Amino acid sequence: MPPTENVRSLVEQNIKDNPVMVFSKTTCGFCSKVKSLFDELKVTYKALEINQLENSAEVQSVLLEVSGQQTVPNVYIKGRHLGGCDATFKAHSEGLLLKMIEAPSSTHEYEYDLIVIGGGSGGLAASKRASELGKKVAVCDFVQPTPKGVSWGLGGTCVNVGCIPKKLMHQASMLGKSIEDAKSFGWQLTSEPVKNKWEGMVEAVQNYIGSLNWGYRVQLREKKVNYVNAYAKFEDQHTITTVNRRGKETKMTADKFIVAVGERPRYPDIPGAKEHCITSDDLFSLPYCPGKTLVIGASYVALECAGFLKGIGLDVTVMVRSIFLRGFDQQMADKAAGYMEKEGVQFLRRCVPVKIEQVEAGEPGLLRVTGKMTENGEEVTGDYNTVILAIGRDSVTKTIGLDKINVQVSKNGKVPVNDYDQTNVENIFCIGDNGEGKPELTPVAIHAGRLLSERLYGGSTLKCDYEGVPTTVFTPLEYSCCGLSEEAAIAKYGEDNLEVYHTNVWPLEWSVPGHDNNTCYVKAITNKLDSERVIGLHYLGPNAGEVMQGFAAAMKCGITKAQLDQTIGIHPTTAELFTTLNVTKRSGAAIDQSGC
Ligand code: FAD
Ligand code: NDP
Repeated sequence: MPPTENVRSLVEQNIKDNPVMVFSKTTCGFCSKVKSLFDELKVTYKALEINQLENSAEVQSVLLEVSGQQTVPNVYIKGRHLGGCDATFKAHSEGLLLKMIEAPSSTHEYEYDLIVIGGGSGGLAASKRASELGKKVAVCDFVQPTPKGVSWGLGGTCVNVGCIPKKLMHQASMLGKSIEDAKSFGWQLTSEPVKNKWEGMVEAVQNYIGSLNWGYRVQLREKKVNYVNAYAKFEDQHTITTVNRRGKETKMTADKFIVAVGERPRYPDIPGAKEHCITSDDLFSLPYCPGKTLVIGASYVALECAGFLKGIGLDVTVMVRSIFLRGFDQQMADKAAGYMEKEGVQFLRRCVPVKIEQVEAGEPGLLRVTGKMTENGEEVTGDYNTVILAIGRDSVTKTIGLDKINVQVSKNGKVPVNDYDQTNVENIFCIGDNGEGKPELTPVAIHAGRLLSERLYGGSTLKCDYEGVPTTVFTPLEYSCCGLSEEAAIAKYGEDNLEVYHTNVWPLEWSVPGHDNNTCYVKAITNKLDSERVIGLHYLGPNAGEVMQGFAAAMKCGITKAQLDQTIGIHPTTAELFTTLNVTKRSGAAIDQSGC
């Protein structure tokens, strides 16, 4: 029998009227634990002992409807569902329970406490955390198709067209190398040459991404975040209009907003760019093998894509306007690119694209690219099956009505924020790739999103520390770093005040297949004015991200060169070289390796 209206209003009225409401049973040990906790904390609460009611089964079925939880205890704080015994104790152990109870309630009648615009790395993290902290939250996520019509699911750039497919395709290309190496270790390969099948790789990667998209939807449902698959635009400081795929418009209001709409690839203003080229947004789901490929750009996205395409056996050229990996340590950047060149990637240096023409249609077709050498203006042409533009990404903040509500937006679309990720408009916050001057990395967006929600709704004062963020470039020879580049360290402290320790590295696993013993390299930059504190670590070699993560933690703790030296290495690894660095760069002493 469906519950009567009386039972429904009994449950709803109790949730509404009591800031701390516990649906409980006198016979339940977990309920006793929760009530004892509130007693200990001297929190006033209302407990409705449903086993003493005549219609307890009906009450439980209404609870299931409104909270998704049938069991008791079923705890509500200020009208928002917290959960059962575990959720209550978890909030308590994280120091958040009392803060949720004591936080002032909004005095306005908005539909939501928080609306997050953008369901990528930052937006999902912020929305889930805010909901866990008892707030009513919605997240709007909408993907505008690329000029080629490619679109994707929930989760933003990282999951769909960034870190995840990129790392998986990098792995595919590294496996190719491992298969080659395997022969030196006694493996007898039956069919040679071993080849990568593009369609198989794309299908496997896309299937995995599909499972992640689904997982995010489930998580939002479980955390009671309302997922709105629609494009959001501000109408006023507390109102947005959303437009879904079918063009249906809906108005939504909230007390606060977080902008986390991310970036999209930039197109150069040259003939043929949008018509004929693709970007990383198209590449990872491309239904056909790109064939002979030109990658335009020389930063993260360009070098990583060029690297894995070469690794799976394609003919790859990179058009480089000026330097490799702008902003990174240039010695390391040149070494990473040098290795790519040795592996067969061709570099068209000091060249910019002028026009792209179609020679033949098809999948892939044939494109003629005209470039101009930046030094002498000379024109060069080349034919490629695919041209990938990787010349940077633009924040997509200019079309979401921020101007209507007077949120300051810089020329490049970045949004200036204070240390609390708050824009110049008090109830509008911004995180992730859109924040001006912030590292454009997934873990940064996630960390900032979680901390922002904890500050807004959990009484926390912890700010996101954007300094000392480690990162890895997944080029064929991976490069990871944390802290300052040598150039930035010199600019900040002066060359004489630095000591730079370095060495070449020969990974043991490279020895048997006979790979070059002086290709991998590590360096540590220390500040002599501050007990030789390590202010920059750079690593070029296998598993770079895995190596740098722990050292980044040590740098957060302020590790000095002496402490690095006192750390005992793990043998035989490449990371252990950081613990035995004894040659300074200024000494000019030999750093070549002949054994491990
Ligand atoms: P996004 O993840 O971009 O999410 C924004 C979301 O908002 C998108 O889904 C977008 O469609 C949606 N949206 C936009 N406008 C609206 C609107 N008006 N209404 C509703 N929804 C909207 N980082 C790493 O840490 N490691 C890596 O290895 C790495 N590799 C990368 C490789 C590539 C090829 C690229 C392009 C990026 C890579 N990054 C990597 C960077 C990382 O993906 C981003 O830093 C991260 O995704 C930023 O998260 P975000 O939440 O700011 O934005
Ligand atoms: P970047 O803005 O970092 O680099 C743009 C590149 O394109 C530069 O090499 C630039 O050259 C070149 N370029 C710009 N305009 C032109 C032009 N008109 N013609 C030719 N070349 C041009 O962009 P990315 O897209 O590589 O990366 C964006 C962000 O994404 C990064 O900052 C990073 O944080 C994130 N990311 C992270 C990854 C990771 O963690 N592994 C991987 C990929 C991206 P020039 O130097 O001359 O200006």
